[in-house]
Amino acid sequence: MKLNFKLNQSNTPDKCEHCGAPLDDDAYVLDVNGEKHYFCCSHCADAWKNSENK
Ligand SMILES: [Zn+2]
Repeated sequence: MKLNFKLNQSNTPDKCEHCGAPLDDDAYVLDVNGEKHYFCCSHCADAWKNSENK
């Protein structure tokens, strides 16, 4: 089994936090209480926000 970890030091995830799709350079970034969350599109960001604010 081969694992491909990215060894760069940034905290930028490479997957959408809502649907898990790989992120492009134009990821949608949402700033929540000073924390950055990354999504593949604004739809995922909205869906994620709604699921967080129950
Ligand atoms: Zn997504």
